[in-house]
Amino acid sequence: MTELFYSREISPWLGFVIGACLGSFLNVVAHRVPRELSVISPGSSCPNCSASIPWMLNIPVLGWLVLKGRARCCDSRISPRYFIIELLVGLVFSGIFFSFTNHQDWGMLLASSAFAWLLIGVVVIDFETMLIPDRFSIGGACAGFVLSLYFPSIHGVHFHPYGLESLQSGYSSLLGILIGSGCLYWIGALAGRAFGREALGEGDVKLLGCIGAFCGCKGAIFSIFGGALTGCLFLIPVYLWQKLRPSVSKDNNALAFGQEIPFGPYLALAALGYFFFFKDLINPWFKWMNELVP
Ligand SMILES: [Zn+2]
Repeated sequence: MTELFYSREISPWLGFVIGACLGSFLNVVAHRVPRELSVISPGSSCPNCSASIPWMLNIPVLGWLVLKGRARCCDSRISPRYFIIELLVGLVFSGIFFSFTNHQDWGMLLASSAFAWLLIGVVVIDFETMLIPDRFSIGGACAGFVLSLYFPSIHGVHFHPYGLESLQSGYSSLLGILIGSGCLYWIGALAGRAFGREALGEGDVKLLGCIGAFCGCKGAIFSIFGGALTGCLFLIPVYLWQKLRPSVSKDNNALAFGQEIPFGPYLALAALGYFFFFKDLINPWFKWMNELVP
């Protein structure tokens, strides 16, 4: 069975199938957790007429395509969001599984999959509800810490002279949780003082704990500033576009200056960027800083 994971021809497809299924589960979780419903039972049902959905029509990605985006029970429209999330998680997992065929590190495969799934969930839920469920932030921090103890390679620990790889990796993870949350808490507290109103949610502070557990403190600190930058890169064009087209800004969904916007999705995107792409680019900068300020 494990040979399938090592095969370059099969592994990305296997990742896509597993990812699409977990994307489908993510849709359920994103719908139910903010409403405080159980994610296990009852089985899938139509959000419009509550008819239960047969498993054949519930197959990730394909189900939505076969139904052409309309429910069979009552012909109501099924949001393309379901399809997009299943496809997205499928593609991300396909990439993670493909990179596994290069590094062949099971711990990294598990941690990458869990981290990507959690953070895509945060992006979806926070955009929709302005809340980050504790199961994602606190639960994610615990999962990251436990995975770090079992698989030290997550924090780049491959060898320790006394065989204490797990301890060193767990320590990195714990430091990531505490420094990440601590930094964001203080930024939020100072900004709150300066603007005279709450600038950051408690959910963002806990999310940084989850990010730190997987990425360590360097990744957590990067995510704060990378997240702010990503947010600006997304929001400034939207804001300017609305200014140039006054008809859009009359729309209720239009972005107003000073309006509350979720920070979690941008933190999550920056963290994913660090974890999967920029780690090797950014860590030397921290080293340089360390040498500058010993
Ligand atoms: Zn229906």
